[in-house]
Amino acid sequence: MQKPTLALSQLSQIRKYLHAHPELSGQEYKTAAFVKNELLPLKPDVLWEEVGETGIVVTFKGLTERPHLLFRGDMDALPIEEANTFDHKSIYKGVSHKCGHDGHTTVLLGLAKYLAEEKLRDCTVSLLFQPSEENGAGAKKVLADARFAGLQPDYVFAFHNLPGYALGEIVYKAGPFTAAVRSLIIKLKGKTAHAAEPQNGINPALAIARIIQYCDPLNNNNPTREDFTIVTPIHLQMGEKAYGISAGYGEVHLTLRTWTESQMRKLVEQIQSAAKQVAQQFQLGIDFGWTDPFEANFNDEEAVDFIKKAAKNNQYAQTVLDTPISWGEDFGAISQQFIGAMFGIGSGEDCPPLHHEDYDFPDKILEVGINMFKEIIQEIAKNKSL
Ligand SMILES: [Zn+2]
Ligand SMILES: [Zn+2]
Repeated sequence: MQKPTLALSQLSQIRKYLHAHPELSGQEYKTAAFVKNELLPLKPDVLWEEVGETGIVVTFKGLTERPHLLFRGDMDALPIEEANTFDHKSIYKGVSHKCGHDGHTTVLLGLAKYLAEEKLRDCTVSLLFQPSEENGAGAKKVLADARFAGLQPDYVFAFHNLPGYALGEIVYKAGPFTAAVRSLIIKLKGKTAHAAEPQNGINPALAIARIIQYCDPLNNNNPTREDFTIVTPIHLQMGEKAYGISAGYGEVHLTLRTWTESQMRKLVEQIQSAAKQVAQQFQLGIDFGWTDPFEANFNDEEAVDFIKKAAKNNQYAQTVLDTPISWGEDFGAISQQFIGAMFGIGSGEDCPPLHHEDYDFPDKILEVGINMFKEIIQEIAKNKSL
């Protein structure tokens, strides 16, 4: 069995190269060029560049066009200074792969090599190398690309590595898998005045305090509840450090989390209408801004069954989650539109958590990711003739 071992060591080298050369969300130009160079010799039937600006899509056609399966890997890194000192540490200051997207990209490249060698028969497979996952912008940009809109995959799949779970264990659940997350910026416009005469201005301080106090009881930080809700105050801004001026403008930044999109809509409605009332009461102008939106990942039952079968065929340990994961993952934008599912692969109990300065994707699970995707393809091709 020399061949797979060699391929795996090559994949590990690729992963380490990507780790050493991280790029932030929306800046994945060199990463995309590297991915393209790896893909070209594999002669995919279709190769699209600049999908959602810096993404790449390749398609390997089988003898039948359907079912059409899409697998997604993300490519972006984070604005975190790497604390590791190993040989493949980030060469850039303040940027590093702390979510393992270097590993996710490598798994898709490994799968591409497999698809190039084993000619597909009963299905067609597309691979999406997605940009800008960390700021929640990438999946939406890809979906807005007319070429991507034409793909209409029958099933979509992605995985995320999960520190804290046994190395190589497959983690999943049907229904909500990751939270809906959005960040709300409430802008309150009043009027500056002399600090000696605040009565002549409109200072937003009390309104800011009221809004924060209103939000606190909305929290229902119990992950077993369907109406699970977290409202986290993130940032406040008001006035200037100019002590003769009563502030005339303020902002409250909150991050909202729920398990479902419908619960999110309800929460947004509640906070916005309360904030408007408070603003009116204090005669403040009000405006809302949104940033970093992640739609909830909703795992389809049938798609989860394919994940289950793939784990079983590979004899990988499985854990079914009782509750979804409270971080946002922008594959949600894709899984809300197409039938599919996201699953986790354990990165080991000792692996530092995601977004920590000493995190590093464990190369041992590269093979697990590729084998899971391979078996999902086999299972769907076997069971589904569309
Ligand atoms: Zn992340
Ligand atoms: Zn991630």
